[in-house]
Amino acid sequence: MEIFDTHAHYDDSSFDDDRSILLGKTLPEAGVVGVISAGTTVESSRFNASLAQKYDYVYFAAGIQPEETEKTGDGYLEEIAEIIKSSDKAVAVGEIGLDYHWKIDKPTQKRFFEEQLILANELNKPVIIHDREAHADTLELVKKYKPHGTLHCFSGSAETAMEFVRLGLYIGFTGAVTFKNNKKAPKVIEVVPIDRILVETDCPYMAPEPLRGRRSDSTMIEHTLAFIARIKGVTTEEMAHITAENARRLFNLN
Ligand SMILES: [Zn+2]
Repeated sequence: MEIFDTHAHYDDSSFDDDRSILLGKTLPEAGVVGVISAGTTVESSRFNASLAQKYDYVYFAAGIQPEETEKTGDGYLEEIAEIIKSSDKAVAVGEIGLDYHWKIDKPTQKRFFEEQLILANELNKPVIIHDREAHADTLELVKKYKPHGTLHCFSGSAETAMEFVRLGLYIGFTGAVTFKNNKKAPKVIEVVPIDRILVETDCPYMAPEPLRGRRSDSTMIEHTLAFIARIKGVTTEEMAHITAENARRLFNLN
């Protein structure tokens, strides 16, 4: 199986003990052909850039995640731009976006999101968008800046998904789609065209059923792929191939 994990956090400290064995051996042996390790801060973007330097199939995105915006000082934008420009393994600006679940200052989040959307357009890179309970404002800014990119760990309705699809974006699904209490996900998967679907772990979080609650890694995507494949009426292998091709198309890896 050809697994392309379009959103991971292999810089996370939960991988400190076994990161090199995972990335150097376990993942490639399980058929993982691509991973995008996404930044959340300047430091994590730098760390992910170093991982991409080390492993052929690992790429990275650099950006400030909404939860980190209040703690991030001025000058971050130049640093993110520099990290992206200095590596040919930088495939996107991300993860960036809006998160209204936590009490983070909304104007601050919006300013960071807008600044990074503009940066992505300047660098001609796609964006990896984090949108949690902020669908209307995210949609408004996507309409304004018209980036290429993906809505990662998509949690909205089928209608919202189709608005983003019509604007040219891709929809990323994590193991959360397999959770038994997730009533929205099957409907979203049903309507999103198969050539706009990406799969991801968001590891170390969001391990799919039947592994829910464990630290996740890219090998577990098989369960997410199987779930989506059943709804789309294709085999898990076909779904793996299609989502890998979708990832290469969006992130210019052909
Ligand atoms: Zn993430």
